[in-house]
Amino acid sequence: MKPKIIFIHPPVSKPAEPPAGVAKLAGSLTAKGIAYEVIDANLEGMLFLLKSETSKDKAADRWTMRARRHLENNVSALRASGIYQNQSRYRRAVSDINRLLGSAGKDYGVALSLSDYHDRLLTPVKSHDLFSAAGNPEQNLFYHYFSARLENALQENPDFIGFSLNYLSQALCTFAMIGFLKKNNPRQKIILGGSLATSWTKITGGSNIFSGLVDEIVAGRGEEKLLELLGKKDCSWNFAPAYGNFPLTDYLSPGLVLPYSTAHGCYWHSCSFCPEKAEDNPYLPQPANQVLTQLQSLRDELHPGLIHLLDNALSPALLRALADSSLGIPWYGFTRITSHLTDEDFCRSLKKSGCVMLKLGIESGDQKVLDKLHKGIELTIVSRVLQTLKKAGIATYVYLLFGTPPEDEESAVKTLNFTVGHSDCIDFLNLAIFNLPVASEEAKSLATADFYEGDLSLYKDFAHPASWQRADVRRFLEKTFKKHPAAAAIIERTPPYFTSNHAPFFVLNKTC
Ligand code: SF4
Repeated sequence: MKPKIIFIHPPVSKPAEPPAGVAKLAGSLTAKGIAYEVIDANLEGMLFLLKSETSKDKAADRWTMRARRHLENNVSALRASGIYQNQSRYRRAVSDINRLLGSAGKDYGVALSLSDYHDRLLTPVKSHDLFSAAGNPEQNLFYHYFSARLENALQENPDFIGFSLNYLSQALCTFAMIGFLKKNNPRQKIILGGSLATSWTKITGGSNIFSGLVDEIVAGRGEEKLLELLGKKDCSWNFAPAYGNFPLTDYLSPGLVLPYSTAHGCYWHSCSFCPEKAEDNPYLPQPANQVLTQLQSLRDELHPGLIHLLDNALSPALLRALADSSLGIPWYGFTRITSHLTDEDFCRSLKKSGCVMLKLGIESGDQKVLDKLHKGIELTIVSRVLQTLKKAGIATYVYLLFGTPPEDEESAVKTLNFTVGHSDCIDFLNLAIFNLPVASEEAKSLATADFYEGDLSLYKDFAHPASWQRADVRRFLEKTFKKHPAAAAIIERTPPYFTSNHAPFFVLNKTC
């Protein structure tokens, strides 16, 4: 059957697992018997560039030459479990692959990595630059890949091409591909969806700012709008994702990682620094029994090695349902710190259900800061949760946030002390510097300036009330936090580029 629509997941994002957003839309079409095709242009494009690098006969420095020679072995190693038992082999393989991507980008003025695409001349937060990327698709680093791939896919003559745009690192490539399609096949209607497209719609007042390039921007959950466009209107959205059309054995992970969302939005919805709150996204959970039924049937169909639960925060009720289930597959996800997790029996049952790692947003080691951020957590509870999870054998991936309006250097030092004091129960760390969401309450009360000088920037620069500016925060992180031996040891074992996507494999493959 001829596909009505081709869904495209554009470069660049981490190529560790199939894209969940596209799979969810694919699931709704599968349920309605509508034919579609999916193209993971991110994974395919990266593999294409890597292969092209190895066939270059131009001499290069020793590192690049080594990376070319070992490419095949390095890629195969990341798809097998053995390398996750050896930190230094893993780091070498990842940095070699990344070296080749960097080399591929050089002639195009692009700093390309396994997780980012940074163009020297164009910024993804300026609509003018996105139109420029669309006007000159042949100047995009992925042009040789996508021109041939799209020409080929268009032989099927679908009515729609849908792009799922979730990260800024995908934006320039998305628009280069759209520009290519508009020039060569203007018949197809272009649909743009995904979380970044949604955020842009919110900050620009809902109009189609890409008119002339994009026919429809679908904000929020795309299933209903998509089915309407395809003439099968249906308001349901709890369709199971469909992964059958993705190149499941090509991702850079050992075995299939199955991404799955149990809800839209966040049940807590209160943290003052969070775009979820600033954009006022509604919380729409799926019933726990439906989540478990869908996961069981995806497990039986696809035999994943790991389930990645994508929610911003798994609710305590869902954690309870998972703890009582017998999925039989390891899983990990983000959750808020709640007193449930101080109960050792509960944590042991989570572990038994397959929970290998929990991602936890602790943000600060200063209670005063947490309270002002409306984080809703107590450090005494955080401390007990970390220790209980450690006892139960569940790894922790801790997220810290520096430079928030209520933080000052003294608070940041408290965060360092808290981290050091709990370093035996923190397995991995993510350190972030605060960005002020444009639509947040704080943006109204602080002295602000345009951060990236772009009309599509989601964040604003601001004058810190305690003069704890970004440069100071950066210096503190580099010269103080990361230099502390206990913090440095955690950072050293946190996987570069793939970060939390690969961290569970180090836990699963730990040798005692
Ligand atoms: S718990 Fe996480 S997703 Fe929810 S409001 Fe707070 S920061 Fe945002």
